Amino acid sequence: MQTKFIFVTGGVMSGLGKGVTTSSIAKLLQLANQKVSCIKIDPYLNYDAGTMNPVAHGEVFVTEDGGECDMDIGNYERFLNQNIPKNHNITTAQVYSTVIEAERKGEYLGACVQIIPHITDEIKNRIRNIAKDEELDFLIVECGGTVGDIESLPFLEALRQMRVEDGPNNVIFAHVTLAPSLDVVGEQKTKPTQHSVQELRRIGIQPDFLAVRCTQPLQEKTKKKIAMFTNVTPDDVLSCHDAKSIFEVPQILYDQGILDSIFTKFAKVGMVNASANWDEWNKIADSMINHKDQKVKIAMVGKYVTLADSYVSVNHALKHAGAKLGKSVEIDWIDSESIEDYNMLSQYNGILVPGGFGTRGSEGIIKTANYAREKNIPYLGICFGFQLAAIAFGRNVLKLDDANSTEIKQDSKNPVVDLLPEQKTVSGMGGSLRLGGHEISIKSDTMAKQIYSADSINKRHRHRYEINKDYIAEFEKNGMKFSAESDGGKRMEILEIPSHKFYLGVQFHPEFNSRPGFPEEAFVSFVKASSE
Ligand code: GLN
Repeated sequence: MQTKFIFVTGGVMSGLGKGVTTSSIAKLLQLANQKVSCIKIDPYLNYDAGTMNPVAHGEVFVTEDGGECDMDIGNYERFLNQNIPKNHNITTAQVYSTVIEAERKGEYLGACVQIIPHITDEIKNRIRNIAKDEELDFLIVECGGTVGDIESLPFLEALRQMRVEDGPNNVIFAHVTLAPSLDVVGEQKTKPTQHSVQELRRIGIQPDFLAVRCTQPLQEKTKKKIAMFTNVTPDDVLSCHDAKSIFEVPQILYDQGILDSIFTKFAKVGMVNASANWDEWNKIADSMINHKDQKVKIAMVGKYVTLADSYVSVNHALKHAGAKLGKSVEIDWIDSESIEDYNMLSQYNGILVPGGFGTRGSEGIIKTANYAREKNIPYLGICFGFQLAAIAFGRNVLKLDDANSTEIKQDSKNPVVDLLPEQKTVSGMGGSLRLGGHEISIKSDTMAKQIYSADSINKRHRHRYEINKDYIAEFEKNGMKFSAESDGGKRMEILEIPSHKFYLGVQFHPEFNSRPGFPEEAFVSFVKASSE
């Protein structure tokens, strides 16, 4: 079986929605009953996204198998409703490390090791191995960065070689560009697209499709003009105009005939039959459009709030839950360092504290968690938000004035949150947290049990610290219950306050398991409690 490859490149500038285009093409093929997956290539030199600042680069998405990945992997999982393994996020560092290691072992003995062919071969191997191991009909590979970047050149060269080696019936290219209009009714400009396709052709890649981002649908005359200058047929110049939700993009592309065209190019004629799957998907996509009349206002209080992408999976998970409940969730991001009067939080129906690291902003989060508890406002704390809720309880209910996490204050006399024992010998920061899916057992007669209707769940993690078990008995005596644990009772995974309207903290990251149409249970319960 020969996997068909679609390579997605980007032109003009970043942030055009290459990830959404990639996910949408994959979704269409999945709806046409094809076995499909996606790869994200990140040409940067970090080994993975784990050490990057979320405010600069967006969220670190954690996969089931413990990868700290680019947030596009999250898009693929949400669109396809399927887990994507960590080897689907390929970086320059991974490729070079493998080649350098092989060179040191003597595997290229006698050869001068070079970008072409050694690095490009390694890139092709990685892509082809995934296609083969997973027995895929289609593999969509998104190349990060913008054409013309120095960093992405070896990757584009490898993709170009694959087209020659596997042939045009097995490899096609889609290029994402922009047609700006200077005002709302203005002319759609084609020059940026012309230039970026020229740049692509200069390195030997002729795109088969152009996905053109624009505010209004691309006019016929614009399509024709772009087609003429880029050597793409007008039918394959696709309008990717603004949509009410990203989940409408597959339909927008489908209506322009992309699926027929893909199958024709791959000489797989007569395979488009997706009607049954479409109904279900359309229902989900429709539900993701906001219900204006039924708003739930959520305050998201955290550290990395200046970029919406920092918590992109949390935002999505709240919307998935809202869609399920027929409510639209309105999120305000509040910097925990900047709150002067905590009474400003009383205007919200619910308060969510997402994950975070380090000292800055932590006092504001502790006060926020305490405010939500005292004022009976629904609270969901995730990871850092779970740990700091326990600290807030320790300080304010148990009167342990200096209760803290050793992450924040190393010599705290009451280390309610402390380093995981196995972390004490860890020195490097990269890839060394407790990561990925772990089994969690839930105690009976708890809110957690009601939420998940299960004795055992599997959730994704990304942390170095945990609740110190020495404090549990005292906490439970005073009304905070630890209702789930993992690793044979070694670690606390969920906290709750039974007397509160809804007060839940989770050590894991429920947002990574939430998908449109299949919202994560803790988010559904939180949004539901917030709407009551
Ligand atoms: N900083 C905390 C820890 O390392 C929480 C991590 C997180 O929120 N992802 O345990």
